[in-house]
Amino acid sequence: MKKKGFKTRSIHEGELKDSVYKGAISPIYLGTVYDYLGDEQMKYPRYFNTPNQLSLSKKIASLENCENGLLFSSGIAAIFSTMFSFIKSGDHVVFQSSLYGGTINMIFNEFKKFKIDYTLVESLDPIEYQKAIKQNTKMIYVETPSNPLLEIIDLKQIADIAKKNKLISMVDNTFASPVNQTPSDLGIDLIVHSATKYLGGHSDILAGVVVSNEKRIKKIIDSSINYGGNISELSTWLLERSIKTLQIRVKTQNKNAHKIAKFLEKSSYVKNVNYPGLKSHPSHELAKKQMKGFGGMLSFVLKDEQHVNLFPKFLKIIKPVGSLGGIESTITCPAETSHAKVSREKRIKYGISDGLLRFSVGIEDYQDLEDDLNQAFRKIWK
Ligand SMILES: *Cc1c(COP(=O)(O)O)cnc(C)c1O
Repeated sequence: MKKKGFKTRSIHEGELKDSVYKGAISPIYLGTVYDYLGDEQMKYPRYFNTPNQLSLSKKIASLENCENGLLFSSGIAAIFSTMFSFIKSGDHVVFQSSLYGGTINMIFNEFKKFKIDYTLVESLDPIEYQKAIKQNTKMIYVETPSNPLLEIIDLKQIADIAKKNKLISMVDNTFASPVNQTPSDLGIDLIVHSATKYLGGHSDILAGVVVSNEKRIKKIIDSSINYGGNISELSTWLLERSIKTLQIRVKTQNKNAHKIAKFLEKSSYVKNVNYPGLKSHPSHELAKKQMKGFGGMLSFVLKDEQHVNLFPKFLKIIKPVGSLGGIESTITCPAETSHAKVSREKRIKYGISDGLLRFSVGIEDYQDLEDDLNQAFRKIWK
């Protein structure tokens, strides 16, 4: 059967039929207890097998061109339940150094306790990842575009290096969303998302997801049942509803962000702009090759870095909040929020300067966003 289009699958793939009332949408089953007779395994939310979880996993997996998926209570739960299904004490993991702050935090604070060894690669050059591989390496983990610097790493080359060395490759695809990037098509084994961001899209749920092939998903279930980072049925249902509009939201965000990036690049109030869609971005050509759109995220450094906390106070539409990926435009200072727990010395080393602002561009009318930025710039530098 011919594979349906992305938007059709966003709406219809995996949907549950309401056989009682024939409603047009998936009914929500809030049950935590189910009949155990006759089924191979009793349904129970922590077993990842309730009707709403199963149906939504299928939908997201389909959008990522993968066989199956698993939902979690948060992005971090998805990332580390997945990782700890494949690595154990004594193993070594190769990480990109510019990762989401919460991910970095977990590595710095928890890995030693479990005697898991790791190398943080500061370069984006795949050769450096090859060089970091040791005898006991099990996995290569990357994030692209990265948070908050929007760095791009070559997923095809990372997947090839992992295959050649019999390692598992894993990518955090949160910033791109499956609208802009499908890493499984490039050979990546495990794809994770903070569904709190673009997949959820309305700044009202916390959720995470991993997608892969059936065999790996089965392995992740077996371990994750013990970790217990499961999603609630209510969040599952809200996430299903959100994904129906994923493509139209993200395409609008792509368009707005590209225009904002060009506007900021020309602004005399701004030192520099990080956006993969700009020709000035060091990996613009690679982004063009591996992404279908450049995304709704960008970051920029204010000309006078000391105004980093004052500037957001003058914005009237763009909200200073510590998350991203919603339909509303939000701005945040990574040094104060996502990377607050990372020491200043490490932050600066990784390029996250005090004056950096991360901008999650929403679906508002473009001109209103530009006007909002302009009036705030003028208030500071009057
Ligand atoms: C937010 C985020 C996470 C963590 O997700 P939570 O849902 O907050 O647990 C992981 N990776 C990236 C890129 C993120 O932006």
